[in-house]
Amino acid sequence: MPKGLSFSEMPFESVRHWLLERDPGRLEALFAAADVCRRNNVGEAVHLRGLVEISSHCRRMCLYCGLRSGNRHASRYRLSADEALDCAKRIEAAGVGTAVLQAGEDGGLTRGFISDMVRSIKQHTRCAVTLSLGERDDGDYLAWKQAGADRYLLRFETSDRALYDRLHPPRGERYDRVAALQRLRAMGYEIGSGVMFGLPGQTVETLAADLMLIAKLDLDMIGCGPFIPHPNTPLGQHEGGTLDLAYIVIALCRLLAPRAHIPATTAIATLGGESARAKALSCGANVIMPNFTPAMYREQYEIYPDKACPEEGAERFCEGLHKRLAQLGRTVGVGPGKTNTAV
Ligand code: SF4
Repeated sequence: MPKGLSFSEMPFESVRHWLLERDPGRLEALFAAADVCRRNNVGEAVHLRGLVEISSHCRRMCLYCGLRSGNRHASRYRLSADEALDCAKRIEAAGVGTAVLQAGEDGGLTRGFISDMVRSIKQHTRCAVTLSLGERDDGDYLAWKQAGADRYLLRFETSDRALYDRLHPPRGERYDRVAALQRLRAMGYEIGSGVMFGLPGQTVETLAADLMLIAKLDLDMIGCGPFIPHPNTPLGQHEGGTLDLAYIVIALCRLLAPRAHIPATTAIATLGGESARAKALSCGANVIMPNFTPAMYREQYEIYPDKACPEEGAERFCEGLHKRLAQLGRTVGVGPGKTNTAV
């Protein structure tokens, strides 16, 4: 283990130091420590989460996002309940235990519509259901929990309030995502959160503070991805986050939150292809999220451009994973892959 690294008790200064580290030998030691930590705490299984992007409508204006309501070039769609159920059935048939229903902040996804969608997926499949539908009121969260939803993902994106407000112009009253995560947990959800890195205006201190907050929140899932600029947004001309930083962030997340589920995100695969995804898995990640959104809609869900999506389709991609993961000494996880279950 690299000198000065003490797993979940790593102090802010150590985290900050690691974010600045560029020495290949020391970084390899960091990644190796994260890999051992991952093996000891969540085992060799790589859990799959079948992603279904159920709506590209969004009422928000986040400065980095291609789905922002101000992007007149974006195409919009919303899946019907039957289409979402078909996706969940495909997910189950592919041997994947979780359906992740993700969308922009779409007022058209009403409380009743999502409740019915969740109920129907739970009735017709054995999939765990994860929701990632942005900021909603507590009545919605509660109704969806009662309908059978298991998990909720709500990234806080950055703990720097001023930066957050600049990037996410509030819609009316300010919403406290960290407080919402705690309420979601109290309602019985497994909770996931995370940040974006490489954002314009983000400093290494800000990012270190983000990672400290991630550790404190004791999350079940941690999703961190690089900022990838979208040309039709106000940040389209800025530089994005790098893969080098992505691996460090994943490794630190693993060391700070040893038992969390951490995806090798699609954004990482977008920047560096399958080899980058494999590298992320060797730095602490233990989840992959194949995209089961129907092909006719997939390109319309464009938070950032040229999103990595296996051309062979999600089913073939999942089939191929067994072989690819075996080459890394890993296995494909079975079932819903709950947090804190036996490894
Ligand atoms: S980041 Fe999410 S909430 Fe913000 S504009 Fe994009 S889809 Fe909407």
